[in-house]
Amino acid sequence: MGIYDELGVARVINAWGTVTAVGGSLMAPEVLDAMREAAGAFVDLHLLQRRAGERIAELLGVDAACVTSGAAAGLTLAAAGCMTRRVPTRRTQLPVTTGLADECLVLPAHRNRYDVALTLSGIRIVEVGPSAEITVDQVRAAVTDRTAMFLYVAESSQISGSLPFGVVARAMRERDVPVVVDAAAELPPRTEINRYLADGADLLVLSGGKEIRGPQSSGLILGDHDLVSESAAHAFPNHGIGRGMKTDKETIAGLVKAVEIFVDRERDERDRCERVVADIVAALGSVDHLKVRRHRPASSLIRPVTIPRAYITPLLRSVDEVVARLRDGDPAIAVGTDGPDVAINPQCLELTDVPILVGAIVAAASC
Ligand SMILES: *Cc1c(COP(=O)(O)O)cnc(C)c1O
Repeated sequence: MGIYDELGVARVINAWGTVTAVGGSLMAPEVLDAMREAAGAFVDLHLLQRRAGERIAELLGVDAACVTSGAAAGLTLAAAGCMTRRVPTRRTQLPVTTGLADECLVLPAHRNRYDVALTLSGIRIVEVGPSAEITVDQVRAAVTDRTAMFLYVAESSQISGSLPFGVVARAMRERDVPVVVDAAAELPPRTEINRYLADGADLLVLSGGKEIRGPQSSGLILGDHDLVSESAAHAFPNHGIGRGMKTDKETIAGLVKAVEIFVDRERDERDRCERVVADIVAALGSVDHLKVRRHRPASSLIRPVTIPRAYITPLLRSVDEVVARLRDGDPAIAVGTDGPDVAINPQCLELTDVPILVGAIVAAASC
């Protein structure tokens, strides 16, 4: 009996993607080994945090990095860093923002479920607008002496009401407003990191437990050296608002190892994803009650856009019915959706999962 059996929690085949609610991603054996090794000795956590940041920055080719307990924590700490960058003596007062520039500008189209990760720092979210058609001039005009940062949510970059990143970043640079990009689920490819930084991001916030496949409770703040340092000053093991967002030694060691593997793995991973999708499309291609195709969800909120999917249109049942039947099946299977289609994401699937998945989809979509 394993721990999940003991607790009466069924395993799930993950055809949905690196979705936190089903466990995000699985760590490589080398990552688990690094965590086990780190668990066996005491070290100075301040030093470990600093050295890990330096090593990850070098691996990813960025100026500076700070390990956080997830992208959500990264947003909280980045907001804190932006508020105190000129007045470090006020760090410990957060989340009380008296005497600080404490507003975060955001496009209305970029508001999302992670807003609270920002406001936890004490920062206030201020939407640019109001208008259906936001222009960069309106973004510029929205800056006041209370503006501490601009938040750009990468997953929303292609939806209606968004603006191109480079245009916004240039405008904010002119006003000396730091631009923070929530790029939690944008990888792969790795070049997205460097592209956003080259286009003017001051800070980029990433999940460690999605495509990087580090510990689930890990994340990164990357970018400008001074701003990363200021954000890190709010983070564990310092006392302040980040004290509760613990990055233990095992998590830090695991994330360093995961980033090492991540930078070497990209091409193999692309081939594996194509193969899984091709196998699913081939296996389901001749089934009467399904339409199946390889597809990339380029313009919706589904991330990451670079991962090919198998899109399946069930002809006899609704998408919601199929999703529910897969989720309640044995084994349970988690899938994503996009409009009328079931969207199978190969990121967390093994080739050996494909026959089980294919059989379950045929059955779930039948009458
Ligand atoms: C997943 C996600 C987060 C949160 O990431 P964690 O590492 O789970 O904290 C934040 N923003 C976006 C856009 C995400 O997809």
